[in-house]
Amino acid sequence: MIYDTIIIGSGSAGLSAAIYASRSEMDFIVIEKIFMGTGQIAESERVDNYPGLYGENGYDLGEKFRSHAETLGARFIEGEVTKISPAKGIYTVYLQDGSEFETKTVIFAAGASHRKLGIKGEEELSGRGVSYCAVCDGAFYKNKVAAVVGGGDTALGDALYLSKIASKVYLIHRRDEFRANKSLCSKVAETENIETVMNAVPVEIFGDKRVEGIRINHNGREEALEVNGVFVAVGTVPGSEPLSGVVNMDSGGYIIAGEDCITSDKGIFAAGDVRTKPLRQVVTAAADGANSIYSAEKYISQLSVRK
Ligand SMILES: Cc1cc2nc3c(=O)[nH]c(=O)nc-3n(C[C@H](O)[C@H](O)[C@H](O)COP(=O)(O)OP(=O)(O)OC[C@H]3O[C@@H](n4cnc5c(N)ncnc54)[C@H](O)[C@@H]3O)c2cc1C
Repeated sequence: MIYDTIIIGSGSAGLSAAIYASRSEMDFIVIEKIFMGTGQIAESERVDNYPGLYGENGYDLGEKFRSHAETLGARFIEGEVTKISPAKGIYTVYLQDGSEFETKTVIFAAGASHRKLGIKGEEELSGRGVSYCAVCDGAFYKNKVAAVVGGGDTALGDALYLSKIASKVYLIHRRDEFRANKSLCSKVAETENIETVMNAVPVEIFGDKRVEGIRINHNGREEALEVNGVFVAVGTVPGSEPLSGVVNMDSGGYIIAGEDCITSDKGIFAAGDVRTKPLRQVVTAAADGANSIYSAEKYISQLSVRK
């Protein structure tokens, strides 16, 4: 069978796409590598910025998305997509277990993961003071002390964002100068409650039930900073590998696509965190899910006219 579309990934973008594909009566499946996966929002303790569901636990929010898609008839297949090959207007989607599926269009919604520091305490205190998203969790640090680790645009942007909420922000960077753009560097330098800590490598995040501090190797000497939260901003890795060489990507591996999710290959649509976009959130991923199906339907209708 040749599907109308195959949705890859069942995070916020993929599940929203599945809801729209069901309502459009498309023949489709959703392929997800994690058993009953609902994407990375499941890692969030509390989501305060998804409209209508204030204070929702991230796992529960993901479950709601998934059960909504299931109620409308979405069919899920568990497996990891390793490659997608276009040939004569049909796409073959290959899975790690050797199975393959054919489709007229692909909605690629494989997300992006945050690069980790890989130090003691990071995983243990994740969601309990260790965060990878200032926009998501910053509001919990009103009048508290936060640390941001990183030296690029995201790290400096996060520090500035947090400086408006927290009483103090340490910006920890392993080099003696930032990689971020000059205007961000100037803004950071002008912000009184941001203290930059250069030539400092984090070695441990510590705390009993929640983060209480971060230990750093600063100019060769170990020291501890007392903080309530640590924001890790050392880069993200998009899950775009299966489309390597198939669609155009930026230098970070994000698939180049606009709000309509159209990529350089007309039958492949990139939705959610995996595509180039300014803000990676549940609400923007869900919007992409809807837009990608709208674009895929338009593409399929043009195929039928051409026949
Ligand atoms: C700790 C944390 C807290 C957050 N808090 C908030 C918040 O409060 N508010 C907010 O709006 N956003 C928050 N976010 C961000 C939000 O989770 C993401 O923006 C959103 O999940 C992106 O959805 P997505 O569908 O694009 O990608 P994802 O949610 O990453 O889903 C991608 C899915 O694709 C699957 N996949 C990947 N590769 C393959 C493959 N090759 N084959 C098959 N399946 C594959 C993955 O397993 C995953 O399930 C948070 C993120 C984290 C990590």
